[in-house]
Amino acid sequence: MCKNGQGFTARVNEPEGKMSIEKASEMMKLREKLGDSENFFESVYQAEPPWDIGRPQKEIIQLEQAGEIVGSVLDVGCGTGENALYLAAQGHEVWGIDFTPAAIQKAEQKAAQRNLHGMFLVLNALELHTLGRTFDTVIDSGLFHVLSDEDRPIFVDNLAAVLHRGGTYFMLCFSELEPGSYGPRRITQAEIRDSFRDGWHINYIRPATMEGRMRPEGVHAWLSSISKE
Ligand code: SAH
Repeated sequence: MCKNGQGFTARVNEPEGKMSIEKASEMMKLREKLGDSENFFESVYQAEPPWDIGRPQKEIIQLEQAGEIVGSVLDVGCGTGENALYLAAQGHEVWGIDFTPAAIQKAEQKAAQRNLHGMFLVLNALELHTLGRTFDTVIDSGLFHVLSDEDRPIFVDNLAAVLHRGGTYFMLCFSELEPGSYGPRRITQAEIRDSFRDGWHINYIRPATMEGRMRPEGVHAWLSSISKE
């Protein structure tokens, strides 16, 4: 397992000392918030998280069967790796990143047990550029919808850094059609279009189902296919 990235402290301590107090405290707040979110996920992964269904998401299988997932794949927020390992079993070169060490540890164990080759790294999705390489395809099952408003543009910039030109990002997130407020925030099509308005082509955003252990029938989701221009 590889711990990559030091969060935001490095940037706060920039040697030139040019960062304003306001900016530094904004960064610190962001870091604290991320810290909370990391602790939340780390504690949930000590047991079995409700989203961790022990098999790939149906929508990911359908994308693969339809030939939409091509070449090398990066799974962002890969959790315990079911989607990544499924794609590895189909012959893709696959990397998975997640900022929760407990999830990455489980993914690595599964890869070893199943004799599959996947590269799993502990990494914040807001620091994807540190990977220093690009992929043909990025998949996201349940990451985008946990990012805060402030984190979204940072994530989208990082996504651009790891996708080839013409490469595609497939994203599965809870939609506003899902009633109630349990689980992650709901995302509207307009929010998705807004996040990817510059430098991206939205191929489609279609109604989909996201499976979970709380609701075996699945929840209302959007499946987006978005290519880097
Ligand atoms: N894709 C997996 C997990 C979905 S849950 C699946 O389908 O089962 C969301 C995942 O995103 C969690 O594993 C959580 O640890 C991870 N995550 C949340 N914020 C993250 C961030 N900023 N960077 C990397 N991973 C993150």
